[in-house]
Amino acid sequence: MISPDAARKRDGADGMEVVIGLELHAQLRTRTKLFCACRAEFGARPNRHLCPICLGLPGALPVVNRRAVALGVRAALALGAQVRPRSAWARKHYFYPDLPKGYQITQYEEPLAVGGVVDLPRVEGSERVELERLHLEEDAGRLLHSTRASASSEAVGSRVDFNRCGVPLIEIVTRPDLRSAPAAGSCMRRVKQILEHAGVSAGRLEQGGLRCDANVSLRRRGRTVPAVRSEIKNLNSYRHLVRALEAETRRQRAMMRRGARLVSATLLWDERAGAVRMMRSKEEMADYRYLPEPDLPPLRLPPDWVARIGADLGETPDARRARWEQELGVRRADAERLSADLALADYFDALVRCGADPQRGADFLLSELLAWRGRGEEGGFPLAPDAVAELLRLQRERSVSARLTKQVLAEMVRTGTRAERLLARSRWQPIRDPKQVRAWVVDVFRAHPRLVAELAAGRDALLRFFVGEVMKRSAGRADPQRVRELLAQELRQWASADREGER
Ligand code: ADP
Ligand code: MG
Ligand code: ZN
Repeated sequence: MISPDAARKRDGADGMEVVIGLELHAQLRTRTKLFCACRAEFGARPNRHLCPICLGLPGALPVVNRRAVALGVRAALALGAQVRPRSAWARKHYFYPDLPKGYQITQYEEPLAVGGVVDLPRVEGSERVELERLHLEEDAGRLLHSTRASASSEAVGSRVDFNRCGVPLIEIVTRPDLRSAPAAGSCMRRVKQILEHAGVSAGRLEQGGLRCDANVSLRRRGRTVPAVRSEIKNLNSYRHLVRALEAETRRQRAMMRRGARLVSATLLWDERAGAVRMMRSKEEMADYRYLPEPDLPPLRLPPDWVARIGADLGETPDARRARWEQELGVRRADAERLSADLALADYFDALVRCGADPQRGADFLLSELLAWRGRGEEGGFPLAPDAVAELLRLQRERSVSARLTKQVLAEMVRTGTRAERLLARSRWQPIRDPKQVRAWVVDVFRAHPRLVAELAAGRDALLRFFVGEVMKRSAGRADPQRVRELLAQELRQWASADREGER
């Protein structure tokens, strides 16, 4: 529950409450398309993966991809939805240049699954989002908008790539349970994590692998969900989703304040302009004329087949975060960041299995290692988890500075050499000789007499600065703990010498 104060702050002075519901589209991880044997790969040259079925040429007969259905069922179960023993296919008619058939095959009155929930981390206003339904459908093509006139053609316009036609998607429809733009962003994140953990979808937002239509309206607190709403189409990043919803909420608020009548509308988000653009208003609302798909029989899913899929869903991201927090003592915010994507989460678990201290490993992974992401095979990390665990162990044993650890890490990536061997090299041997360290301390004191006086006068925050300066002079090879001790000793001497001088 949120306090009345928080609610007032959230809703604004006018007491209006934001109502948001999402329609999320995720690409399923299949090799081939939903109704034909064409490849479903991303990034192929335009119009390479086509056939009469996905182009909808007359007489071509679709055949359902079993793996896509199995993945849809997995998605439903991972989201806690009920899979229906029978679902049916429908044609959704509309005209758009990226839709050569003139209709999309989807599920309408009889969806694959109903219900389900997404639990949100604690964000403004929403904690749990109920799901309305989940269904299977095929994707449309993609318009490639050229930004400049091509030399060979008069026309400046769009070309179309049909590779994506017929690629399998699930659509997940939430109830209008979200109460803020950031909550909608969290919901999209959570859905991505759940689908990725269940192996259903690769969740590649940058490739259009997860997109969302966001519906938003304003209502007086406690009233029913209004009929008039805006739908912002095709948002493919968390940031765009949140920004688009914030902009549209502001626009609706301003309209209401002016006493203008709101009408339902379909909008597009223009990220560069930071504003929504009208796509069509209520009068032009599409009438999709849904019809039963005559070429495909209803899907009948044997309950034992569904049960077998549900038996090995693997660890959910919620369970994973809970395990990290409760069993490994990882801070909640870090558990949140580590579970943002599957490869990162798996890497962290591997690091801990290799003996790394969990919180230390989490800190290192999130602060240092993330920068190296993408340099390894298939865009992964360039170092095996056991090599990183070894570096962390050596750091702890020799109390090597953060700065040196960074250098060693870079060298490990560059040369593929283990930390043990690198640190055995003379230029990285720890320097423990107190005379040498003391000399650096004195040197630093001489360079900053005013700051030394302030430190001596009790401005302890300066200690970090002085430790850092000494560590710099040692090229990171001094032991920070020893440096701190020697600094304190020298400071006492320095202060008493100063008083001597006064006398
Ligand atoms: P349609 O059949 O027109 O697509 P639905 O009732 O299926 O409409 O709702 C589609 C999406 O819009 C759902 O995610 C739902 O939660 C959301 N929605 C419905 N009414 C509102 C509203 N007033 N404000 C915000 N979202 C809404
Ligand atoms: Mg809809
Ligand atoms: Zn095809």
